[in-house]
Amino acid sequence: MPDFDIDAQDWGLETLGVRAGQTRSHEGEHSEAIYPTSSFVFASAEEAAKRFAGEEPGNIYSRFTNPTVRMFEQRIAALEGGERAVGTASGMAAILSTCMALMEAGDHIVSSRNIFGSTTTLFEKYLRKFGISISYVGLQDYQGWADAANDNTKLYFLETPSNPVCEIADIRKIAEIAHSKGAKLVVDNCFCTPALQRPLLLGADIVTHSATKYLDGQGRCVGGVVVGNNDDMEQVFGFIRSCGPSLSPFNAWVFLKGLETLNLRMKAHSENALTLATWLEQQPQVEQVNYAGLESHPDHQLASQQQSAFGGVLSFKVRGGKEGAWAVIDNTQMMSITANLGDVKTTITHPATTTHGRISQEDRDAAGVADGLIRIAVGLETLEDLKADLARGLAKI
Ligand SMILES: *Cc1c(COP(=O)(O)O)cnc(C)c1O
Repeated sequence: MPDFDIDAQDWGLETLGVRAGQTRSHEGEHSEAIYPTSSFVFASAEEAAKRFAGEEPGNIYSRFTNPTVRMFEQRIAALEGGERAVGTASGMAAILSTCMALMEAGDHIVSSRNIFGSTTTLFEKYLRKFGISISYVGLQDYQGWADAANDNTKLYFLETPSNPVCEIADIRKIAEIAHSKGAKLVVDNCFCTPALQRPLLLGADIVTHSATKYLDGQGRCVGGVVVGNNDDMEQVFGFIRSCGPSLSPFNAWVFLKGLETLNLRMKAHSENALTLATWLEQQPQVEQVNYAGLESHPDHQLASQQQSAFGGVLSFKVRGGKEGAWAVIDNTQMMSITANLGDVKTTITHPATTTHGRISQEDRDAAGVADGLIRIAVGLETLEDLKADLARGLAKI
């Protein structure tokens, strides 16, 4: 049975996306099997006892392990270059499980300031309640990353590229700072995926994903995953196994199918986004375009070294503030007006009144979220159709 084993470490990313982690049942199925079963049956009372005691490997109950989930975990671990991955019920469950498994009351997190909204809520509303403190620094404030640590700092946390203005953090540099403070670096790799950026190979200790986004790629399922070394992942697995935010086998199967085209999709998303960003830069109503693939972007050099392409998400600022931005959004006919991303369907959103609507004007200004800013997660439609969809609204400004 050609399982993922010895030689797979040498496979290219495309091969890993298609084949890593698959184990076939005795039926010899070509596509990965879904195991929609809550529990597993033992051959004898003795076998049951041994499995429960951990003396013999094997499945017991799908909150703990499930063969379809395990195939997804092994494929992601291979793609990210990590020793082990653990599937979770959502991207937020991945971040929650990492924090719950590796931290205790009195510990401290140093995080980049501009992170996913629910991650801020998790940190501020829930982790603080259990005695964990958090300091925030600017993504590229390397002195700040060093100065923010204290004797209790356990985790550093960041997202790169940042949302929605596409700033790039130097993962290698921040990993070195974290390690010099005796802390681990966690990178939320949702925007790039391992097809474009592999943080563990740059020195990060743990990667988290919302599989809901590009790993699925077609907007079907909610899920997540944590990747890292065996010791850390045993802790994360222990939390999930006992406390419950496990990944469903059906969703894991959908993600396995998504991963088969991940490399192709991320290349195509990146090509479409770069062409659209270049076109937007030439439009008279557009004051600024944020996309690290553009040579005009201040982080273009760093992004070129750290990533193999620049991803599907860009933002741009139009003349006329909020009215201008809303005119562009409301005159689209094809793009989906939604804050989601990581889908073959292009999505368009106004960050200042949606994802960043509840934060103060001052914090919005600091994050570069101007009233005229529009974020697009560029999908895989025909480029001329995407341009035409935006041109209608731009002409109204
Ligand atoms: C969507 C997202 C999450 C949360 O993932 P869910 O699957 O929605 O729980 C975390 N981080 C980033 C960067 C995201 O875009």
